[in-house]
Amino acid sequence: MTVSPQFEYKNGILHAEDIPLYELAERYATPLYVYSRQALRQAWERYAQAIMGRNVLVCYGMKANSNLAVLQEFQRLGAGFDIVSGGELARALKAGAQPELIVFSGVGKQAWEIRAALTAGIKCFNVESSAELERLADIAHEMGVRAPVSLRVNPDVDAHTHPYISTGLKENKFGIAIEAAPALYHQAMQYPSLEVIGVDCHIGSQILEIAPYLDALDKLLTLITHLAEQGIVLKHLDLGGGLGIRYTDETPLTPSELLDPVFEVLNARGFGHLQIILEPGRSLVGNAGILLTRIEYLKHTEVRDFAIVDAAMNDLMRPALYEAWHDVEPVEPHHNAPTRTYDIVGPICESGDWLARGRTLALEQGDLLAIMSAGAYAFSMASQYNTRPRAAEVLVDGARAHLIRSRERLQDLYASEHLLDTV
Ligand SMILES: *Cc1c(COP(=O)(O)O)cnc(C)c1O
Repeated sequence: MTVSPQFEYKNGILHAEDIPLYELAERYATPLYVYSRQALRQAWERYAQAIMGRNVLVCYGMKANSNLAVLQEFQRLGAGFDIVSGGELARALKAGAQPELIVFSGVGKQAWEIRAALTAGIKCFNVESSAELERLADIAHEMGVRAPVSLRVNPDVDAHTHPYISTGLKENKFGIAIEAAPALYHQAMQYPSLEVIGVDCHIGSQILEIAPYLDALDKLLTLITHLAEQGIVLKHLDLGGGLGIRYTDETPLTPSELLDPVFEVLNARGFGHLQIILEPGRSLVGNAGILLTRIEYLKHTEVRDFAIVDAAMNDLMRPALYEAWHDVEPVEPHHNAPTRTYDIVGPICESGDWLARGRTLALEQGDLLAIMSAGAYAFSMASQYNTRPRAAEVLVDGARAHLIRSRERLQDLYASEHLLDTV
């Protein structure tokens, strides 16, 4: 059993839906990101079930995987989008997103990004500071429009996740301390070019328990009540993203397991009128993709056995960045090779360039490996470090494979660079 039902062994060979992975390697070469359309749809369907009959907008946190074809798929399924840059806005619009279903998060929105989002007519700006509020008000005033605003509040809850992906604690750069929020709401109300409509938070990523969400919800509802008493009436509450996925043996919450208790609280406390927004990223795409890679060399040293593969930290940064675990599955397991404990490493000139450590596997040079759960924060964090072209992306739909991003060519990598014209 792998972590995803769309990437399973059939007759001893690992498949993506109905296609054996070695066929994709032959056709598109490696390293290669392979996504399953069915897995994307299933992940969406779990949210669709959970929100049925409820006033919930699901805005896909697109930084997890922003390939146009992936965005298009979610757009067609009815998703809105949570963007964090002007670049993501352009991508979302290119993929057919409805601007009125886009929310714009992030601590450092630049003037041009704000202008672009106002021009498009997005649903809401998730504002993270007093200075940003002022900039947004000024630009909206100049443009003669009203900017819809939510304040991103930092509820100071511990999501018990990796420090680099925990965002709801006081010490983080994100959001506005909850005690400081009322004053900022009053500031926002002073600007005629702003329309105050909501409150939001995003407390972290790869969250596996309900408690941090309910703690955050409780604090936000108290804030909403307090604001209403002062005449500031909010229309929506955005709980952010963060639902975890199974990388190996975790038991993540389903969207229903998150939303059922949320709605119990909302109904019990008389907040049935509020629109709820969610911004899931990882939980929509993480297990809908793998990174397919080929072993270039096996290298046995006195203290370690290495499988040196053609994928590297530039293709999948999470292990180097967070010491993240990704399962590794051989595409065609064989039993004649000796079983050893391998570190799976890339060719990049950094000791941090590893994809998996201490895995017991029977490997041979030339074998294909699937690095599992690489649908989220894999390609979207990829770089060209060591002048490595970014790998191609393929979306499998049953027995068909669609190339949704071509492999970069070497000349693409330096096409925008300029030689000095002086001697
Ligand atoms: C990254 C991010 C998300 C998506 O987070 P996941 O953990 O991938 O669900 C949602 N909202 C905001 C503001 C984010 O920064």
